[in-house]
Amino acid sequence: NNVLLEVKDLKKWFPIKGSGFGKEKAFVKAVDGVSFTLNRSETLGIVGESGCGKSTMGRSVLRLIEPTEGQIIYEGEDIMTLDRKALRAKRKEFQMMFQDPYASLNPRMTVGEIIGEPLEIQTDMNSKEREAKVLEIMDLVGLNTQYIRRYPHEFSGGQRQRIGIARAIILQPKLLVCDEPVSALDVSIQAQIINLMEDLQHHMGIAFMFISHDLSVVRHISDRVAVMYLGHVVEYAEKDELYNNPSHPYTIALLSVIPTVEKTKREKIILQGDLPSPANPPSGCCFHTRCYKAQQICKECTPELKDLGNGHMCACHFPGK
Ligand code: SF4
Ligand code: MG
Repeated sequence: NNVLLEVKDLKKWFPIKGSGFGKEKAFVKAVDGVSFTLNRSETLGIVGESGCGKSTMGRSVLRLIEPTEGQIIYEGEDIMTLDRKALRAKRKEFQMMFQDPYASLNPRMTVGEIIGEPLEIQTDMNSKEREAKVLEIMDLVGLNTQYIRRYPHEFSGGQRQRIGIARAIILQPKLLVCDEPVSALDVSIQAQIINLMEDLQHHMGIAFMFISHDLSVVRHISDRVAVMYLGHVVEYAEKDELYNNPSHPYTIALLSVIPTVEKTKREKIILQGDLPSPANPPSGCCFHTRCYKAQQICKECTPELKDLGNGHMCACHFPGK
């Protein structure tokens, strides 16, 4: 079975303060019924504007924040049903990487301690064994092993992200959720980190969920790409299929404004209006308030994700150009 992770109808609703208590209870529907699969050793890109729910979705999938409902089937087991202890044991296999490694690295710990900490928490290795493993991983991610006793502030942004990667992979996870892992880095450093991640995936067989607002970076690294809007996945497909043949009006608009090397020029579609509040999402299709193709049915009836062929999934009543 090639499927590592299957997410079904995942929701994360945050209650709004002061609602309830005689008033109607209100929620911010940050993630509102997301479904997708992730194969072993595959990279699934998750794109969308800021505020579309992609970070919340990434954290919910690992239960770093508790989902409101849904199923997260990992290697055939629904991890929503695991108690804390069982979940902690599973944590070895899935890790998270963040945009700003500096914020997530303890400034008072040496690089060796930071990278080796997961071994201390999750394994019974002694300190000598841990240090040997840390040196091996530092080497693997391209960090000078002589710097093992240095502190995070002594490293550049790109090196810190290597430290973050080393820490994330030291337990040999099967799944790594990466939230904007290169967005804070210069473009030349971005390329180095992306290449490193691809090498590690090849070498260790890790599946990535790669969350980014940057459609060009996602195109480079992903096998498949999912597009999120207002807490929903509105389209997902094989990378080339999605970029060459986008079918949801939101995806078409997003792709129309990124610079491409292709000769066929697409007409730029500038979306009108603001992103609606996830506390008060539009009826029917969540995109209808900004969609250039919207019809009456779009306001009344929520489109389901449907397979347009070969696993190209799209949630729109009028998919295509
Ligand atoms: Fe636009 Fe209607 Fe499709 Fe929604 S369902 S994306 S409003 S055409
Ligand atoms: Mg985010």
